[in-house]
Amino acid sequence: MHSEEELEHLLRRIDGRGYKAYKEIQREAFEFDGCQLFIDHVQGDPFAAPSRMRLRVPMEEACIPADLFSNRVRRVAFEDFVARAVARAIRYETRGQRGSGKSGRVLIDSGRQEILERTAASVCSEFLEARLEVGLPATGRRVLGREAEVLLLDELPAIARASLSMEALGEEDARRHIECAEDHAALQSALDEHGLVAFVADAAVLPRESGASDRPPQKDAVPFMAPDALRVSLRLPYAGQVSGMGIPKGVTLIVGGGYHGKSTLLRALERSVHPHIPGDGRERVAARSSAVKIRAEDGRRVMGCDIHAFIDALPGGLSATRSTDAFESDDASGSTSQAANIVEAIEAGSDLLLLDEDTSATNFMVRDARMQALVHPDHEPITPFVDRVRELHDTLGVSSVLVMGGSGDYFDVADTVIEMRAYQPRDVTARAKRIASEHRNDRRQPEARQPLEAPHQRIPDRRSLDPSRGRHDVRVDARGTDTLVFGTTEIDLRAVEQLLDPSQTRAIARILVRAREEWMGPNVTLAELLDRVEGALDEQGLDRFSDRPMNLARPRRFEVAAALNRMRSLRVEQARS
Ligand code: ADP
Ligand code: MG
Repeated sequence: MHSEEELEHLLRRIDGRGYKAYKEIQREAFEFDGCQLFIDHVQGDPFAAPSRMRLRVPMEEACIPADLFSNRVRRVAFEDFVARAVARAIRYETRGQRGSGKSGRVLIDSGRQEILERTAASVCSEFLEARLEVGLPATGRRVLGREAEVLLLDELPAIARASLSMEALGEEDARRHIECAEDHAALQSALDEHGLVAFVADAAVLPRESGASDRPPQKDAVPFMAPDALRVSLRLPYAGQVSGMGIPKGVTLIVGGGYHGKSTLLRALERSVHPHIPGDGRERVAARSSAVKIRAEDGRRVMGCDIHAFIDALPGGLSATRSTDAFESDDASGSTSQAANIVEAIEAGSDLLLLDEDTSATNFMVRDARMQALVHPDHEPITPFVDRVRELHDTLGVSSVLVMGGSGDYFDVADTVIEMRAYQPRDVTARAKRIASEHRNDRRQPEARQPLEAPHQRIPDRRSLDPSRGRHDVRVDARGTDTLVFGTTEIDLRAVEQLLDPSQTRAIARILVRAREEWMGPNVTLAELLDRVEGALDEQGLDRFSDRPMNLARPRRFEVAAALNRMRSLRVEQARS
């Protein structure tokens, strides 16, 4: 470990030299008053991705009570809290951009409204650490040594003082953050024993500021209030008794007029597989952690997917060779893509499907009595979801929550019907059931030809996952949450709506690399592969998923599976049952 003075001398010495001179500090560590600076990677030029540094405060100085990170939920929440505090400290303590390219900028990957496990901050019994991206200052391609001195010797230690100790963080706020995450975890684990798949607390604020912002709205949000028939009261470790709407296992419809808040409720459920930060409005909204949003996604690739429960007997021509118990397509239709999304979610272990009519294929959801009269079932390959949704629950234990304002055919198969009216839920189950029995004459005929069975397991072929395709420079990266670059192929993830953070996409890229190297094999089914991924994430943590420091956030197994399933080079074998 070098001293502060050595760093100062070095920066003075390289002042005005070519940018490469900064490489002298790469992989060095410096001891300052109260903190340590580790320089893991130095950028090649001022316009390249910024340099990676870690700012560490030894625990004797950070003084974080051990109970703030004594289990996984607490540690993740505490680290999330620290990363946000560091982000604020960066705003106060740094002068930001100065010089060419990214010169002078300091960044931390502090996340948005959800609390995710991420690499941005790290706590252990020895130290508290923030992982920063720092633009080493230059003018043109010349080292700005004086600016670097200010940045590394004044600003970074100031960030550490302002955010990397219990005193600077504020113990009360830190505890509130952690308690929020622990209450959410408790809520999630209480769902099962109460026969629920999701819970929305009274007074929750579900709508967001705008389509482009995930923050709570400043004003005019109608707070959520549970209808009496669906009201449950749960006991949480910190918030105590909390009352709200419980969504039971089985088939739940969310109905209501356009613009009355249906999709907003469903979206809140999608997101509530993760905890939210205090003040978000959705802190006490929780869905089972295995909830998967299902949508139509025409154009996606599907490989060897057993969709025959939904699509059978395709007409000849192009699809003559395509069996739907191992369906393949480079360009799936709305209905086949939606069927594949369901089957893949179940294969990966989901037991809660979330569907919105806004993003579903109409012909996949229902075929009404008149259309059945016109087009004979023998000429219709699709068994619509309405004819499978009951069996999904009764046979496979998979519940569904569907937004369905457009078809009353679902009344026959629903367990619970919730009407959203002016953003407030009401229980209309009994009325929907009465209407269904009064209109028995125009009821559609069920179309399922065979009983539903669990879909086949698939074995992904590791050779089909070569990120380099024989080339040397293997590029594995994420472009936002939309695209994952895997060597020479690009995976389109735009329709994977529960992939929330670009750092999750980046983590998936790393996971796929390790899956190929270590975990895939001739007998490893996709579900087993996902178990291995999760096991490694639990045991080793995210840091071990890359050999150099990177902004990573933990994805769920379902998003990992979604990426693998959308890889255009993927080949699979059917597992023998
Ligand atoms: P639907 O799916 O029923 O057509 P949406 O959920 O898309 O309706 O909501 C329509 C609009 O109402 C959106 O702009 C949304 O932000 C807003 N909104 C939803 N819930 C609330 C609420 N609780 N309070 C205020 N505005 C809301
Ligand atoms: Mg809608």
